[in-house]
Amino acid sequence: MRFGVIDNRPVLVDGESAIDIERASGGRFPADPAGIFDRWEALVEWAATAELEGERLPLDRLQNPVPAPRQVFGIGANYLDHAEEAARAQGFTGDVKAMLPKNPMIFTKFRSSLSGPYDAIPLPSRNVDWEVELVVVMGRRAERVAAHDAWSYVAGLTVGQDISERVVQMAGHSPQLSMGKSFPGFGPVGPVLVTPDALENPDDLELGCTLNGQTVQKGRTAGMIFPVAELIAHISGICPLLPGDLIFTGTPSGVGLFRTPPVYLKPGDTLVTWVKGIGELRNPVAAGHGYRADDDSQNNQNNQNS
Ligand code: ZN
Repeated sequence: MRFGVIDNRPVLVDGESAIDIERASGGRFPADPAGIFDRWEALVEWAATAELEGERLPLDRLQNPVPAPRQVFGIGANYLDHAEEAARAQGFTGDVKAMLPKNPMIFTKFRSSLSGPYDAIPLPSRNVDWEVELVVVMGRRAERVAAHDAWSYVAGLTVGQDISERVVQMAGHSPQLSMGKSFPGFGPVGPVLVTPDALENPDDLELGCTLNGQTVQKGRTAGMIFPVAELIAHISGICPLLPGDLIFTGTPSGVGLFRTPPVYLKPGDTLVTWVKGIGELRNPVAAGHGYRADDDSQNNQNNQNS
């Protein structure tokens, strides 16, 4: 099943168009996208056999499919190739595999940073970077779940960008990941949520992003150090995961910070982000509040952890 939101209402995506769920179900399911995840199992069951009659909506109007999650988790340094590019940028020449952490690095993207698949990314500075990510959406409450059971708690998967302001991220005694990644518009998500059963292998999906048509990241989710099921097991052992919660699962190599010299987003850029089998985000980049094109002090040359 492919699920989305149009006009702030839940829709089923059926081929090249979408249909309003509340209307097509005769009111059985709510018109509020925040409430739909509490009825997720019933929705999947209904969608499998429903007669989809009614007005067809164009897919270019799709919005963030999960606009109001109760919790949003982010995972840092979760791909081996990304951990390697970070280590090399800091001059480390040894075996990165031997240095990998025993537990995932977890932060939050505050939910006011979330935005839609075609929304502009407003830049607060000249230090803003991209991170393509697979985003997990929870389908039922998960508390102390075992990894072998974890996928059954997932509503679906979607595409996300973990946009990051690298100077804010590095300010302070320890990295401020939650702040550097939570400016408004720093969490584009969408365009649809796809149930795991609709994907051949939800643990091995190709993902990437292009900047102005040039591929800057390309990887596979099989490259995760802590795969989706282990992330759910780990997080749910501490915080119960609730229906509709999001997990940004980390990014493969190719971010701007670790390029020589570093490359950051500029007004007028177009960032296209995709996960094969799910879809693509297309976000124009714009000058935001506080952005100064002429201020060199805003240009970060630091090479540190991401
Ligand atoms: Zn990230």
